[in-house]
Amino acid sequence: MKDKLNKFMQGRYGVDQFARFTLGVALFCIVIGSFLRTGIAGEILDMLGFILIIYTYYRILSRNVSARYGENQKYLGYTQNIRNRFDKEKNMMQQRKTHHIYTCPGCGQKIRIPRGKGQKVEIDCPKCHQKFIKRR
Ligand SMILES: [Zn+2]
Repeated sequence: MKDKLNKFMQGRYGVDQFARFTLGVALFCIVIGSFLRTGIAGEILDMLGFILIIYTYYRILSRNVSARYGENQKYLGYTQNIRNRFDKEKNMMQQRKTHHIYTCPGCGQKIRIPRGKGQKVEIDCPKCHQKFIKRR
């Protein structure tokens, strides 16, 4: 069964970030559409989700790899800013577990201090060298 699938997928493009995105939007449309099923909006969302699923599978099963690759690159280019912001946000969340992030009262510079057991620590701002005391 797996062999058959491998053979079937040979020379075809496969799943990329853009496919995951369009499939995600498709599922979102269908879920929201199912809540609004009685109205015309629900029908439109349903239809949109269905079209997006077909489009996603068309791309996954496509043999025109370079065209699909180009579409994915375009998608990655358009979404780079958003994805960077998400990554930054995620990074900050992780750092908050191990570090306190304080803002210098003098210049507004953000300063990372490793978390301690609540003892006071004198912080020397690396930018304007104002000293201030915080708990860490
Ligand atoms: Zn400062």
